[in-house]
Amino acid sequence: MELSYILNELGEERENYFNAVSPPIIQTSNFTFKTVADFRQALGNEFDAMLYSRGHNPTLNILRKKLAALDGAEDALVFSSGIAAISVPILALLQQGDHAVVVENPYSWTIKLFNDFLPKFGISATFVDGSEVKNIENAIRPNTKLIYLESPNTFSYELQDLKAVSNLAKSKGILTMIDNSYCGPLYQQPISLGIDLVAQSATKYLGGHSDIVAGVLTGNKELINKIFDNEFMNIGPALSPHSAWLLIRGLRTLPLRMQRSFETAKIVTAWLEKHPAIDKVLWPFSPGFKQSQLAQKQMQGCGSMFSFTLKDSSIQKIETFCDKLQHILMAVSWGGHESLIIPSIAGIAKKDYDKSNIRHQLIRMYAGLEDANYLIKDLEQALE
Ligand SMILES: *Cc1c(COP(=O)(O)O)cnc(C)c1O
Repeated sequence: MELSYILNELGEERENYFNAVSPPIIQTSNFTFKTVADFRQALGNEFDAMLYSRGHNPTLNILRKKLAALDGAEDALVFSSGIAAISVPILALLQQGDHAVVVENPYSWTIKLFNDFLPKFGISATFVDGSEVKNIENAIRPNTKLIYLESPNTFSYELQDLKAVSNLAKSKGILTMIDNSYCGPLYQQPISLGIDLVAQSATKYLGGHSDIVAGVLTGNKELINKIFDNEFMNIGPALSPHSAWLLIRGLRTLPLRMQRSFETAKIVTAWLEKHPAIDKVLWPFSPGFKQSQLAQKQMQGCGSMFSFTLKDSSIQKIETFCDKLQHILMAVSWGGHESLIIPSIAGIAKKDYDKSNIRHQLIRMYAGLEDANYLIKDLEQALE
């Protein structure tokens, strides 16, 4: 399906709403039925019905069609946060006594999910360095039901070979799931590489304007239906129609925004690499990146988030540099119009800072939609 068709037309039945170009926000909790027979059918199969907005809603359904098509998937579910799009399917697909192999250093709340939350239900996990498929293979046990990936992650950008992992998982009948927030559907297509379920924080690139929190999960119809029928309806993570509408609006410009920030990241990382005060720059499409070959093989482009370290990595120097930035904002999240910075040290107690640990030294920057030179000027004066 052509990208322009997906973003501009798919799912939009304009003749049903006065031929308006922009779809309506169907702000309703429930839907009516003319006959008991119709009502009975909807109650019997809510997945294919419009019954109650904790399940499906017409504004959300436009979004589901577009998001599924973007991932090359059969179906999609939209959630009120990215982490719900990760935790709900895992709760749906794993049971007491099951085990998951998880890549190390995924998103912080994913770590908490596997370390603190899932053990309450008797589900265990082993974290492994996923840059070698062998490490994943060695961690598989007879009760392993899921291999959970995040490629690249969003602080140090380690990748997994998605094709190799999916081949391994298929040979053993194990489900695979990936957090694809960093690349998004335009720069990485995990389903075409054999991954079963793709989760993303739509708060980031898909929404793109830092004004909503949302998540998406895509996969085949059978899996999505199973997740919907029980955990999705029981936990209740539906997105509001208004936020869904904002997400549809965000998608219209997804290719433009991705391309712009990808180009900016190329320029800014190249500039940082040459700066005398900078030690290391980590970005999957940097020629010197450790897994650059794999990144070029399985990604069609690169997210615009990267990390770097200062040559003088004392807490004092990192703090002064970040405090001096005037336009690049200090905040969590990423994927919006505004460029952002987070130093690792903001999350580490001063007494625990380990100068020899590169993960402690990292300063993560997200390049938004500003002009590359505008960002470089800000970095330059702060590095001074
Ligand atoms: C932000 C983020 C999430 C969680 O998404 P929310 O929308 O904040 O719930 C998951 N994974 C990655 C990589 C993220 O950056």
